[in-house]
Amino acid sequence: MPELAEVVYYCNQWLPAVGRTVAAVRLHPRARVFRDADPETIASALPERKLLTADTHGKGMRFLFSGGLHLGVHLGMAGRLFTAPLPYQPDKHDHLVLELEGRAAPGVLVFSDYRMFGRIRLHEGAEAPPWWRDLPPEPQDRGFTRARFEKILDRRSRAPLKAVLLDQACFPGFGNWMADEALWRARLFPGLRAAEARKEERARLYRDLRKVARDALRVIAPEWTAPPANWLFPHRWKDGGSCPRDRAPLERETIGGRTTCYCPVCQPPIA
Ligand SMILES: [Zn+2]
Repeated sequence: MPELAEVVYYCNQWLPAVGRTVAAVRLHPRARVFRDADPETIASALPERKLLTADTHGKGMRFLFSGGLHLGVHLGMAGRLFTAPLPYQPDKHDHLVLELEGRAAPGVLVFSDYRMFGRIRLHEGAEAPPWWRDLPPEPQDRGFTRARFEKILDRRSRAPLKAVLLDQACFPGFGNWMADEALWRARLFPGLRAAEARKEERARLYRDLRKVARDALRVIAPEWTAPPANWLFPHRWKDGGSCPRDRAPLERETIGGRTTCYCPVCQPPIA
């Protein structure tokens, strides 16, 4: 599932279309990605609108078009955005295709999602829609203070740290790999309950989760460069990986409802 930096990467794919005007819309009206939107309204509202800005927040994106038209995109499990030249023949997984006016590249903007857990939304109005208003600060933001972090842990004191880090209302953009990476860097067992974490352990987690967010944005967002070998990331995907710090075989366990990868040596489970 695309997390913070992968979402920025995909949003950037449509950036070359800022300043361009939509000529025509092609979509699959019965696709599940339109469960929160009316596909007919999307098809009739977008033509002749100019794309003004493209932004991400956490795992969500908002494309603002002229006349106060807000197109929301959530990639779900396997959605992706890309551009292509005209003429373009949509694939069966291309649920939304925006053809642009003029002959300049790109010719089309495509939202493709073979799993269909993604989501498209539309809102028209001078004010941002509810789903794009009053959003919590992202973990790398200045507004994501230590006090805010402590409050989150205190409120979720009985939950395993892994589950707390996956809460999008608290850590927008964090997903499975970022949560595992942050806990591994902070040398904390993912099943440790927030209430059991000591003061210095909380301080390490605060520092390292913000570092993971910044590192992900620096390494992955621009061109989807593969993370370096000294992150947990390249070692966590297949069975049999080993910890890049101490070469111990990595363990996998369901914690917080998700397959969690950790090193039993630097993140020893609590007795
Ligand atoms: Zn280790």
